[in-house]
Amino acid sequence: SLDEIDRIPSLLPQWVESSRQYCINGKVASYIPELSKAPIEALGIHLIDAQGHSMSAGDSDLLFTMQSISKVFTLILALMDNGEDVVFDKVGMEPTGDNFNSMLKLELVQPGIPFNPLINAGAIAISSLIAGNSPIEKSERVLNFLRVLSNNRSLAYDMDVYRSESETANLNRSMAYFLKDNGVLDGQVEDVLDIYFRHCSISVTCADLAQMALVLALNGKSPETGETLIPRRYVQIAKTFMITCGMYNASGEFAIQVGLPAKSGVSGGILTMVPGRYGIGIVGPALNRKGNSIAGVALLETLSNEFDWSLF
Ligand code: GLU
Repeated sequence: SLDEIDRIPSLLPQWVESSRQYCINGKVASYIPELSKAPIEALGIHLIDAQGHSMSAGDSDLLFTMQSISKVFTLILALMDNGEDVVFDKVGMEPTGDNFNSMLKLELVQPGIPFNPLINAGAIAISSLIAGNSPIEKSERVLNFLRVLSNNRSLAYDMDVYRSESETANLNRSMAYFLKDNGVLDGQVEDVLDIYFRHCSISVTCADLAQMALVLALNGKSPETGETLIPRRYVQIAKTFMITCGMYNASGEFAIQVGLPAKSGVSGGILTMVPGRYGIGIVGPALNRKGNSIAGVALLETLSNEFDWSLF
């Protein structure tokens, strides 16, 4: 409502400051060494409505890497490149209840394909489905797609985070070799991993995430031109995965407390949306035990409760 739009700009700064107090109870991810440099007390939000009005508060200018948030968009690109049948031959549609980097069910549950495209194993399988004549061309297509969706031509990799992950990714590397042996990956394992590490290290601000989220909120239409950037069906698939698996093993809790499609990353980013209305980007590098931004989730709970945003 008009009323809501008028109230958000004046309320946002105070809600950011009251949510920020939770940062001290969280931890910045350090298993990718470069990520541990992020400011633990930071919290920022950017929100864009369907008419293009922007609102932001807190540390919304902070640069951070997309990490798992990028998996939503590689899934969409893989669907656009291959169609549903090919994609869902290689990844399932179910939450795991395990950690994002778990290999457990890959061995235990036949036919040995990842449970969904938002866990690491699933996203690595998706990386091998991106079309292109070379690994570099595939990575460029992903980056270009995100430049279009974010309406930011200068989106680029954080090469320090990229190298830091690539040098330390023993678990993802072993997972990828396991997938290769199961017949899930096309191409050379190291090439597929390179595509994956690169899209995880794309550097963004909250405004970039909000702009990408707005395209999903508008069912794939460009907020500027109305042109179809993503077929509606693929947006529907992506948003469904965001509800069931987007917030790691706290997706059920998040659906109850906030009730919006969302995807988080270990850098503390959260991309979420109010369908038809807002694209939202958040950053807060201090993570809770489930790996989601502790202050970011608190802020979203406040917003959703206050404005009755839950889809349910
Ligand atoms: N690049 C990170 C990894 O593979 C992404 C994890 C995440 O954000 O959940 O470990």
